[in-house]
Amino acid sequence: MNLILMGLPGAGKGTQAEKIVEKYNIPHISTGDMFRLAIKEGTELGKEAKSFMDKGDLVPDAVTIGIVRERLSKPDCQDGFLLDGFPRTIAQAEALESLLNDMEESLDYVLHIDVPKDQLIERLTGRRVCPTCGATYHVIFNPPKEEGKCDHDGSELIQREDDQPDTVKKRLEVNVEQTKPLLDFYREKGYVVSFKGDRDINEVFQDIDQKLGNLSQ
Ligand code: ADP
Ligand code: ADP
Repeated sequence: MNLILMGLPGAGKGTQAEKIVEKYNIPHISTGDMFRLAIKEGTELGKEAKSFMDKGDLVPDAVTIGIVRERLSKPDCQDGFLLDGFPRTIAQAEALESLLNDMEESLDYVLHIDVPKDQLIERLTGRRVCPTCGATYHVIFNPPKEEGKCDHDGSELIQREDDQPDTVKKRLEVNVEQTKPLLDFYREKGYVVSFKGDRDINEVFQDIDQKLGNLSQ
């Protein structure tokens, strides 16, 4: 099951990814999470990525493609993967095609979560994440059981630096511009399935699950 999750920042990719990987047992490959981990660990990759991420800009393609190539070559990707936040440019999409060709694999679906832009700022500024396990919450729409604490491991939830209002606006602008050509690229190839994302988290998942259920039969 080789999948890509697409949608603007805040559309619910991370939230749905948690549910998909739990049910279908494939690795969740989030380039944003990989960059954040590298920053936390203070690696060279982290230092390079941070300067772009703090401004809401994309990390250069060469860097991003390099980390995805390395990740997809790991044994746990043999039975499939869920890419989240990659590809974000046509150059990345083309690089992914050639990587998959080399692996003698192909995509099954591009799962596109569609949410009106005006709802995204509220979603992103209210987002809180667990620094330990990466679980995603929202102060109003998806609060943890105990305020400020992760349901899974009790860690103190944090707000991502790039979820501050000014950076959020910049990220949305950058992404709106880049998402459309990318969706067109995959639509032409017939991979895109769109889901209405401005509904309850579980309702969105039910629809995605139904689509994926057909695939695994
Ligand atoms: P992305 O990975 O696409 O940037 P997230 O999954 O992190 O998006 O979701 C962004 C914020 O919106 C989080 O705070 C999350 O809890 C919340 N959220 C996700 N899906 C929904 C939904 N269907 N309805 C309301 N809020 C949601
Ligand atoms: P969101 O889904 O909320 O936009 P991500 O966690 O996917 O956030 O990405 C956070 C940041 O990491 C992006 O703003 C960008 O700077 C960088 N990033 C993540 N994925 C990519 C990518 N495929 N190409 C370039 N930069 C990326």
